[in-house]
Amino acid sequence: VRLFIKPLERLVRFNEQFQKGMAGFRRFNELLNIDPEIQDKPDAKELEDITGQIYYNDVTFGYDHHSKVLSDIDIEIDAGQTVAFVGPSGAGKSTLCRLLPRFYEIDSGEILIDGESIENFTLNSLRGNIGTVQQDVFLFNGTVEDNIAYGSLDAKEEEIIAAAKKANAHQFILDLENGYNTNIGERGVKLSGGQKQRISIARTFLKDPAILILDEATSSLDNKSEKIIQESLRRLAEDRTTLVIAHRLSTVKNADEIIVLTEDGIAERGCHEKLIQQSDSMYKQLYQREFSEQLVS
Ligand code: ATP
Repeated sequence: VRLFIKPLERLVRFNEQFQKGMAGFRRFNELLNIDPEIQDKPDAKELEDITGQIYYNDVTFGYDHHSKVLSDIDIEIDAGQTVAFVGPSGAGKSTLCRLLPRFYEIDSGEILIDGESIENFTLNSLRGNIGTVQQDVFLFNGTVEDNIAYGSLDAKEEEIIAAAKKANAHQFILDLENGYNTNIGERGVKLSGGQKQRISIARTFLKDPAILILDEATSSLDNKSEKIIQESLRRLAEDRTTLVIAHRLSTVKNADEIIVLTEDGIAERGCHEKLIQQSDSMYKQLYQREFSEQLVS
């Protein structure tokens, strides 16, 4: 009976938090910069049981009519594969990833998931199949448990705990004063950057999406914390189609494909071994620069 009532209780609590926390949600939406004009087509269908194959077919997009951030982009990602995007700041890596959950409407071309245009699916089901882990972790004023269950309201307690374990978060949660019932967020216990990230990783494990977008943190966590997070992210990406905005050598090296994006579009693509062998590749320069920085630090 308890398991049955639990999600209902959570729903009520969420409702209260929604009332109180609308300001926070508005901030969250502003952060993502969601275009409120994007809506379901009248005959939109549910995106269900997907393998997670992705195809950007000749995609062009600009935030305004004057300038294009992305032009004629072609990318095919097989189900379960990892693609890493590298390149200079402002090249459009984040933009490219934001187009997949349809936060913006593209100007031309199409984006397909499992062979069908994302515009044919309901926004809810599309976004339900895409998990995002990014630097700015969104936590609201509520318990740890509610924060992990955000987006999976009917989750059972044991599923929440299992997700936290996979995210290497279970132990530190137990060490908080009220464990999973500890209040965090604006008026609760303050968590470290790494702990917040692990909560957000647990949330994504619970959501269990076929597609994952990882915006790797550039801000420095301490070494130990970084290793723990990397390990759980690697686990999270297993068996999911993953798009990574990459800042770390290890992720890039292990990706099935690396795409070097510049303001002029896709400059280079291929796996690490291929790109590193090309004597004059941008990738090789980026790699060597980062590698020498790592050796110094
Ligand atoms: P970084 O590595 O610094 O995150 P990036 O490669 O991810 O960079 P984007 O953030 O996608 O690049 O930005 C691409 C271009 O689009 C930049 O010129 C940026 O100023 C612009 N841009 C990004 N977001 C918006 C927005 N919400 N509205 C208008 N222009 C934007």
